[in-house]
Amino acid sequence: MTRYVMVIDKRRCIGCQSCTVACRTWNDLPLDIVYNPVVTEGTQGTWPNVHRDWTPLLCMHCANPECVPCCPTGASQQDEDGTVWIDSKKCMACKVCVNACPYGMRDASHLEPRLHRFVRKCTFCRDRRQMDPSAKPYCVDTCHQKARIFGDLDDPESEVSKLIGSVKTERLFTEFGTDPQIYYIPELGGKA
Ligand code: SF4
Ligand code: SF4
Repeated sequence: MTRYVMVIDKRRCIGCQSCTVACRTWNDLPLDIVYNPVVTEGTQGTWPNVHRDWTPLLCMHCANPECVPCCPTGASQQDEDGTVWIDSKKCMACKVCVNACPYGMRDASHLEPRLHRFVRKCTFCRDRRQMDPSAKPYCVDTCHQKARIFGDLDDPESEVSKLIGSVKTERLFTEFGTDPQIYYIPELGGKA
């Protein structure tokens, strides 16, 4: 089996938001749509002991997603490899899934003023991977800090498996119960 996950190494992220721009470019997003914002916390402390923290966000591609079973048309789907995506042809923009996602990763601002309106979000660049099975999400390819690592957690030899097995990682709001598949390496003290 294949189970795609993303590891975000906060030790390497410098908050440049290149990933946000890359995502916009690949997905041809209007200005009011952001699939992968980078949240900045800080600056904390007093010079010269100052600190800033960056957390890149995106759809968590939850193993147990709230957004899929609630969809009345079957537009919201999950592939066997874990990718959560939306079939735009089936979506009627009822926004049930937008309200169901506890991470707020589907937003009403994703509805464009077109004749056919549909909800959109990150798909781990499903379209790129369909064209080339070895392709990675564009944000991974364009992160010059190599802070984003994408791969198959069911493959023990993959970089994501080795990282998750050897370094302390955290996932956001696991108490939601959706089993999110984005793993963060904390900025400080990442070694297990
Ligand atoms: Fe669905 Fe939200 Fe989980 Fe993404 S983060 S898979 S939109 S429940
Ligand atoms: Fe399904 Fe679209 Fe409604 Fe979401 S907005 S629940 S994807 S039909």
